Amino acid sequence: MNHQFYEDWILSDQKLNMAEKKLLSEHLDSCEQCQNLKTGWVKVESALQSAKYVTPAPGFVTRFQTFQQTQTAFAHRKQAIQSLIVTGVSMITILVAFTIWFFLSYSPANIIVNLVAIATGVIRTATLFKTDLVLFLRSSSASFPFLFIVNIVGWAAIFLILWLLTIWRFTQHGVKNNEN
Ligand SMILES: [Zn+2]
Repeated sequence: MNHQFYEDWILSDQKLNMAEKKLLSEHLDSCEQCQNLKTGWVKVESALQSAKYVTPAPGFVTRFQTFQQTQTAFAHRKQAIQSLIVTGVSMITILVAFTIWFFLSYSPANIIVNLVAIATGVIRTATLFKTDLVLFLRSSSASFPFLFIVNIVGWAAIFLILWLLTIWRFTQHGVKNNEN
């Protein structure tokens, strides 16, 4: 028996005429295989029909986008904080190194050279800091103002203290040199 012919009718969307319906009906009565196909196909069709009406809950897309944005913002903020820490440590190391080097120098020529070196170091670290600040500002949202303020005030304080300390020590050395 050729089932293919009936299977095509069962699975196709085309409307059957009366004669075709009769033929199919007769075949289904005598063929369990095609009956099973018919029953299965009806279930699949009804499942597909109901699936059309299963739409995401309202605001799903917005929520997903917000989630993605939060994830991205968090990654950026983490990166910015890491970058700030690295820059801060580098800045302090450079400043301390230059300060120590500067304190160990007594000749006026050396002081001038070292002052230039300190200025260069400060400018370099300031530039690095500015880059990090821009990055941090971009990644900071209104939900993190406290962290942001703490960072800015913290770095500003460290910078100011080290700078004032350097100037103060330079003044002390300058007075000593004049007395000698
Ligand atoms: Zn059949």
